[in-house]
Amino acid sequence: MKLYEYQGRELFLEAGIPAPEGTVVESVEAFDDVADDLTYPVVVKAQVLTGGRGKAGGIKFADDEDEAREHIEAILGMTISGLTVEKVDLVEAIDIDKELYASILVDRSNRLPMVMISDEGGVEIESVPDEDIHKMNVNPFTGFNAYHARQLTQRLDLTKDEAKQVGNVLAKMYKIFQERDCDLIEINPLAVTSNGEVIAADSKVTINPAAEFRHQDLEGGTEDIPPLEQEANEKGIAFVKLEGDIGVIANGAGLTMATLDALEHYGGNGGVFLDLGGTDDPAKVKTCFELMTKAEPSVIFLNLFGGITKADTVAEGVVQVLEEEGLDVPLVTRIRGVNEERAREMLQDAGVTATQDLKAAAKKTVQLDKNVQAGGGA
Ligand code: GDP
Ligand code: MN
Repeated sequence: MKLYEYQGRELFLEAGIPAPEGTVVESVEAFDDVADDLTYPVVVKAQVLTGGRGKAGGIKFADDEDEAREHIEAILGMTISGLTVEKVDLVEAIDIDKELYASILVDRSNRLPMVMISDEGGVEIESVPDEDIHKMNVNPFTGFNAYHARQLTQRLDLTKDEAKQVGNVLAKMYKIFQERDCDLIEINPLAVTSNGEVIAADSKVTINPAAEFRHQDLEGGTEDIPPLEQEANEKGIAFVKLEGDIGVIANGAGLTMATLDALEHYGGNGGVFLDLGGTDDPAKVKTCFELMTKAEPSVIFLNLFGGITKADTVAEGVVQVLEEEGLDVPLVTRIRGVNEERAREMLQDAGVTATQDLKAAAKKTVQLDKNVQAGGGA
């Protein structure tokens, strides 16, 4: 779960990380109600769950009420990386002298939290040369200590007092990171003002999905997940949208990947894949096909290895789909595993191509896709 910038800012303020005061509004009328109480100049900041708002025109400075209103009108409703801006945060503008970068994330290769800082803040961290990013793993049992802070901050071009403030911010970030089960907490830029104060001028906080139940006081957004993927998630089905047009349904991540590889090998491209997972419920198979149909593939390739998910259970689901709703795209199936013969029979009786040969099935799928792309229909 990603938090909006203003929610992260509130966590920062609660934890004692210096950050500007702000007010969130969803309409110009709501702004008019609070306009008198704000301290100008303000920065009008689009609240969307993506970075790069500055470049996209979602961050604007306003010297007074009228200018702020103009910017709010322009920014509300704007689209940034496919997301519509529904809220803006109005924060007291700060006089930034230096922009640093600070983050804490889960370092999967070392299986430890990792703190990262850089003098080169304010730009996307991906564009900063690796040698300018200073990294340090933290042992979660002993935590983030003063010496960690010193070791990191001495590598930055800072005065003694600034370094101390940055160290404090890092320690508080680490506390939030732990208490809030974060995957990521990033401050970019961590601003040094012209009077030498260190202030968090942005926030990016992601809570680990498995721990969301522990943080129900936070209502983050998942708007950056496409609606179909979200619907699939709610139904317990892994759904991934790719570039091509072939719909793949398989069970287990490994088989799904192998299926995409097989299609690619024969010159085809997976467009959407659904992982059926382990199920013994034909209804789940139906749900899968419903989701797949909504994704409008050119052809559907069902590649199944029956184990916990018995092949005939899946076949039963497929037959139900065909009988009740029908499919308006061709379906190719490759069935192996528990009760495979019975499953293939059921599918063949329903008029579906059912084979045990992955190569043949992948080839056929790619051929059908090419027919559709050529405009000839399937
Ligand atoms: P992002 O583009 O989505 O990462 O949004 P940020 O909140 O990081 O804002 C982008 C840039 O706008 C920052 O790197 C700063 O240079 C600038 N900025 C944001 N807030 C302030 C502010 O209060 N004062 C000043 N001077 N610049 C700001
Ligand atoms: Mn930023």
